[in-house]
Amino acid sequence: MVASQSIPNKELGCPVCGKGKLKAQVRTEHFEYGEGGDKVPVQAENVPVEICTHCHEAFSGPEAVRIRHHAVCRALGLLTPDEIRALRERLGLNQAELAELTGIGKATISRWENGRLLQNKALDRYLRLLAANPENVRLLGELPPSQAAAPRHVPGGTYGHGESAAAFRRLGGADLERYSRNRDRWLDWLNFAERN
Ligand SMILES: [Zn+2]
Repeated sequence: MVASQSIPNKELGCPVCGKGKLKAQVRTEHFEYGEGGDKVPVQAENVPVEICTHCHEAFSGPEAVRIRHHAVCRALGLLTPDEIRALRERLGLNQAELAELTGIGKATISRWENGRLLQNKALDRYLRLLAANPENVRLLGELPPSQAAAPRHVPGGTYGHGESAAAFRRLGGADLERYSRNRDRWLDWLNFAERN
């Protein structure tokens, strides 16, 4: 990984060796991103750093961090923070509205756009799909608000994510249809089935 100590007060000289001065330099960096078999080579160009004239330690400011993050996004084939922001603005949505529409947390979207967090491939593709056609935004907007993950209490038992799958397996196609028509009625039916 690239040495990326943040830039200290230049007047005080190098805080690592205490002997050298810091000298501005723009360089091309090569590093690897990821772990194990998922490592990808990254090339970041025009990275502004301050280099110690004595020990050659490199110090980076926010601009260097931004450029490296951008290069990592490119190497991984992901949207860059600027692209995510532009995509959202093209849709005419603020961060809160995009969060509500997609179910992605507002804080997460904010971190993506600030380059503090890298979106995974699935969410990257989701964003691209959303932006590809305004019709997709309309369709998504028409979905009922998602039911939160909080487990629901059912008399005679509780079902969360795992248990609902088991409950479904006990049911036939007609009952699944009934469930999709009316969730509460399905719960009544399930209670009845479990009592009998
Ligand atoms: Zn030094």
